[in-house]
Parts: sequence; structure tokens; C-alpha cells
Amino acid sequence: MPLIPEDNKIIQACKKIEIKLMRRKIIVGNWKMNGTLEMARSLVEEIVTGVENLNSVDVVLCPPYVYLPLVAETVKNPPSISLGAQNSCEHSSGAYTGEVSSTMLKEIGCEYVITGHSERRQYYGESDEDVARKTNAVIAANMTPIACVGETLEQRDSGQTRFVVERQVDALLRIVGDDEIKHVLIAYEPVWAIGTGKTASPEQAQEVHSWIRQSLHSANENAARSCRILYGGSVNGENAQSVLIQPDIDGCLVGGASLKSTEFLRICNAAG
Ligand code: PEP
Repeated sequence: MPLIPEDNKIIQACKKIEIKLMRRKIIVGNWKMNGTLEMARSLVEEIVTGVENLNSVDVVLCPPYVYLPLVAETVKNPPSISLGAQNSCEHSSGAYTGEVSSTMLKEIGCEYVITGHSERRQYYGESDEDVARKTNAVIAANMTPIACVGETLEQRDSGQTRFVVERQVDALLRIVGDDEIKHVLIAYEPVWAIGTGKTASPEQAQEVHSWIRQSLHSANENAARSCRILYGGSVNGENAQSVLIQPDIDGCLVGGASLKSTEFLRICNAAG
């Protein structure tokens, strides 16, 4: 008989505490291509004030590139909010007109970069491999990539969700590598739930998150335990808590609701 039985309540409680410490909740606001300079200024000021006493959750804002310096300036004292970009180039420099490199983003204060958002995959033709290469470049610049995966409605309806998400995660594992994958945050964003007002049920989201964790587990057990997996898709102040209490959901990537400070702060509070 083992000295301490596996179903020992103390062990289970310790595991929960360990996960809570390793996988601090994180809320990421993706402003997409929205706003004006004035709106960016007031939105970030309201959010900075609103998170002042929120110490148990990481908050990241991803404004359009041109507003990054303004947001960086506003969040820096105290640095309660981190700065993220919505995209970056896989190359470090050179003749790539219109592109921005990870090292440039790092230089102006970014700590996170979203890679492979479904809008990039859909409108700009980014493949699983492109996304994985960008993810690699972000890690190389000492930032944290938030790599997005997720199925379309057609794929879900034809029973391909697991296959599609595993294929996207496999490309990351193949190109980023089994060891470096520990630096990646993964965001599960069902395409049919983005900006549509249709959220995946907490159970649907949890199911896919657990598949993602299993995929990571076969490559790197420690990374599978520590990797934060975010849910994204019509998250708002009303539904955030039901999503965030799922065991494999470690945060949210928020689009529309991140443009309204009260709504975004409700989500941050639900995570805190
Ligand atoms: C997103 O764009 O990443 C997103 C989740 O958008 P929304 O919250 O508006 O569905």
C-alpha cells in the first residue's frame, strides 16, 4: 500500500494550490483595429484606475501598434498592466514593408504578442506553420506569445474540433520545440464564438482545453502542468466567471468587451 494514498484530500488540496500559484489567472484585452487616440487614452486610464487593487490577476492590453507607446506610458506607474501587441513579423529585420518585428515591440515595452488570431489566419492567410514561426520569433525576443487556436463552425459541426485544434498545437510543438513550448500561452478561441455573441458553454470550452493540455502532456509534462490556456470568444462581465472556474481555463482573451472599461474590469474582477 502506498504511504500516502493518491486520493488523499491533502494531496488534492496541495495540487490545487500548486496549480493556482503556477497558473495565475490572466485577462488579455485585444482592441483589434478599434479606437482613436483620445479613446485609447481614456480607456487605458480607466482600466489602470480600476485594477489598482487587483493583485491576484495578470492584466494585459493589446492596442493597435500606433497606440502602444501611449498605453506603455500610462501603464508604467505603477506597472499594474502589461503591454501586448496583436501580431508581429516572423523575421527580425529587413525588407518587409509594413511589418513590425518582435525585437521592435520588445524595445517599446511589450511583454506579450498575440500570434495566429483567427482573423490573421482567415484574412491574411496565416498557416499553422506561419503562426508557429511567429511564436518562435516572439520567444526569441524574450516576450510571451499568446498563440491562438480554434475551429470554425463547419469544423465543429462535422466533428473535427479535436483534430483541428490538435493539428494547430502540433505545429507549435514541432516548430517551437518541446522544451520552449513552456514559454507559450495558448488561447482557445472557437472561430464561431468570436465577436458573434455566441460563447462556447463552459463545458465545451473545458473539454477543448483539456485536449490541449493532453497534447502538451505528451511532449512536455511540466509544460502541460504550468502552461496557461486562455479561452476567448464573446466573453463578457456576465459569463466570465462561469468560464474561469473551469479547471483547465486559466484566463480569457477578450475582444469586444475589452473596449468598454466597466465590462473589461468586471471580467478582471471575475478572475481575481
Ligand atoms: C478575440 O478577438 O480574440 C475575441 C475573443 O473577440 P470577442 O471577445 O469580441 O469575441
